[in-house]
Order: sequence, then C-alpha cells, then structure tokens
Amino acid sequence: MEHNFKKKFGQNFLKDTNLLKAIVQDGEINSNDEVLEIGAGAGALTEQLSVCAKKVVAYEIDNDLIEPLNNLNLKNTKFIFKDALKEPIENIEENFCDKYKLVANLPYYITTPLIFKFLQESKKIVSMTIMVQKEVAQRIVAKEGNKDYGILSIMTQFYSQPKICRIVGKQMFYPMPNVDSAVVNLKICQKYPEINGNDFYNFIKKCFSMRRKTLLNNLQGYKNLSKKEIEEKLKDFDLTKRPEDFSVEKLIEMFKLI
Ligand code: SAM
Repeated sequence: MEHNFKKKFGQNFLKDTNLLKAIVQDGEINSNDEVLEIGAGAGALTEQLSVCAKKVVAYEIDNDLIEPLNNLNLKNTKFIFKDALKEPIENIEENFCDKYKLVANLPYYITTPLIFKFLQESKKIVSMTIMVQKEVAQRIVAKEGNKDYGILSIMTQFYSQPKICRIVGKQMFYPMPNVDSAVVNLKICQKYPEINGNDFYNFIKKCFSMRRKTLLNNLQGYKNLSKKEIEEKLKDFDLTKRPEDFSVEKLIEMFKLI
C-alpha cells in the first residue's frame, strides 16, 4: 500500500502476522466478542481481529486511509473515520450491544488521555489490550516505592488489573519509532465500588502535586483542610513520607478517612 505516513497521528504500523495474532490472543478475543479498535491504520490488526471476533468497530482519524480500509471488505467490521478522543463515549459505545473489549496499537501522542477516557467514562468496557511505549507500560504496572509509580499507575490499578503481556522491539514497526513498546492488558474490575473514581483522581492529583514534597505538604489545602486537620484525620499514617511511598490500598484508606 502506498501511504504518506503522518507523524502527527502517531502512525507506526505493524506487519508481522505472528505478532498481530499474538496481540489478538493477549486480548483473549473469541467469536462471542465485540471489539473496539482505535487507530486502524492500514488494517493489519483489524484483519486479525475480524477473523477471531464476532464484530469489530475500528476508529481511524486519517482520511487518506478510508479507501484502503474499505477495500479490505471485512464483513463483520465497521470503520468510523473520526477522532476517537473527541468522540463522546456514548457515541462509541452505542455500537456495542453490551460488553466489549478494546484492542489497539495506540497512537502514542494520545495514549494517556485515551486510557483515562475509557477508565473513567466507559459503562461497557471489559478489558483494554493496548500497545503503548514500554516506558508507559512500566508506569502502568509499577508498585509503590518504584521510580515509575505515580498517578497513571494508581488510577489504572484502581480501575483494573494490569499486566504486561509482551515487549515489542521498535524494529517491528514501520516507520521505526525511537523507543520499544509493550502490549499491556488491563482487566477492568470494580475493586472499590464504594469510591467515586473522579473524586479519588482529584485526591491523587493533590497527593502527587509535588513529587519531591512530603504527603502532608502536598495534601495541605485539600478540601480546605489545614495541615493540623489532615494530621488528625490521618494520624495512623507517616505523612512525612513522599506520595510514591504509599500503596494504592493505603491511599484509598486515606481518601476514605478524609
Ligand atoms: N492499527 C495499525 C497497526 O497496528 O498497524 C495502526 C496503528 S498506528 C500506531 C495508530 C493509528 O491511529 C494511526 O493509523 C493513526 O492515524 C490513528 N490515529 C491517531 N490519532 C487518532 C485518533 N485521535 N482517533 C482515531 N485514530 C487515530
């Protein structure tokens, strides 16, 4: 296929059929599944998904790809040529009867906002199996005390059970990006149904407002509370530690107390 690759859309395509099949397996896709793909590109992953899934809905922002994608004539696949980040989640999800799985080789420039969009807004998503930069994958699965641990780790672990399925070398993409990638699988689960995710996210952003500061200093002013009031509410915690020293469970305990 002749294509003018666009860096601004994060266009790094995959070709290796074994790798594409492995990604579909990482997504645990079977013939009962409805699948959402974001960023169909030339349709290499879409084709493999359409072989295994009941139905595929694939978004693509680049209008130059309309013709090649439609020419694939994939019977159980619907292409939507829109910006998936700007598309309201209700519009995306009305394509699916009930539950669906997201599988994508994501454009890197919108990885984090896309992950947050689906974690925070989706009503029907079961899992996300996504190719992301290796460094982002390491941040997603990082535990407390690790240099990669932060807001992304906490929020993905709040909403899901994440695991790295495979590391993918940069030479597997065309054009070749600067860094290696990884496929991550996030199984969405309601681990903390009693907690409002958006409120918890605001709390975590406050906790991590300055990484070098102690948790107490960062939390000062949260819900208009003084340092003294925070110390009283969280008296069982060592607030002289830095935010990255606290596990997701500990942060949830604190959130509930405040
Ligand atoms: N799935 C293909 C593959 O694996 O070979 C292409 C993956 S490529 C990393 C990412 C694709 O996402 C590109 O085709 C790009 O045009 C598309 N894209 C970028 N931003 C997008 C957006 N906001 N909404 C939908 N598609 C987008």
